[in-house]
Amino acid sequence: MAEFLQDFESSKDTVVEVNYRLLLVIIETSSSIWAGQGRTTDSLSLQEYLETVIVFINSFLSMDRLNRVLVLAAHNNASYYLYPSAGIASLDTKSLFDSVDMSGVSSAIITNSRKLLAETCGTLLTRDVSGLPSALARSLCYANKFKGLVPPGVRLLARALVINSSPVDSSQYMTFMNASFAAQKESISIDTCLLIEDSSLLQQVTSITGGLYLRKAGHSALLQYLLWFYLPEVEIRDWFLQPPKSSVDTRASCCCHGDMTELGHICSVCFSVYCKFTPICHVCETAFKLPQLGIKK
Ligand SMILES: [Zn+2]
Ligand SMILES: [Zn+2]
Repeated sequence: MAEFLQDFESSKDTVVEVNYRLLLVIIETSSSIWAGQGRTTDSLSLQEYLETVIVFINSFLSMDRLNRVLVLAAHNNASYYLYPSAGIASLDTKSLFDSVDMSGVSSAIITNSRKLLAETCGTLLTRDVSGLPSALARSLCYANKFKGLVPPGVRLLARALVINSSPVDSSQYMTFMNASFAAQKESISIDTCLLIEDSSLLQQVTSITGGLYLRKAGHSALLQYLLWFYLPEVEIRDWFLQPPKSSVDTRASCCCHGDMTELGHICSVCFSVYCKFTPICHVCETAFKLPQLGIKK
């Protein structure tokens, strides 16, 4: 701690910025591909996949002693802390000055993911609701708490990375959008790496927050992919060669059917989108007047 304060004091004279960088990693672990469905010869097992992500996380942590990480698993319809195991409760001003024990991060991720899979192996995979919005909201709460703890004059630069292998259901459009706008307000960019199929919803999330959206076909060379595209901070990404950006599908998903809608009705209270006129908003229960037909003269 004394060493940190000494560095911080000397940095005042040389006008060197001292920043905490917080990486919020959300790993989707409920995909059927880990259970063997749709596996190809280059598919990783869940263990290999987690080990790949751990190498990426340790690379991020080794870049600066003030780098910090939060790892969450989006599993079935909920989210779970993989590191730190106690989540927000583990945050205190004392731990801010300690460097992160990388072997502790690796063992916590492996231990907690094994525990999670053992606890949920008997439950059926639910396709209707994803745990991603819950994990996003939790990670933003963690970043907000962290921000309140950093010493005066030190900035917290947070960003998120979502690695997803499952289809994302558009019925959760509103929760994704709420999380995206909250992240945008706090200047937290959300990067997404999709391993199976594209998602226009996650594409919108990255577009709103200024993150990087990429779909990788299959699992081969996943580590190189993560290191090359997602390890550099947002401000220096232009220095690296990147794949051409695809156009963003900005259509909203309707609350009534979950379909992408180009032209629809929007609730003036909660901003829910409907593809057809509805007299009562399903989300906030506001009653609307029926549209009046024009009176012929
Ligand atoms: Zn609809
Ligand atoms: Zn409403």
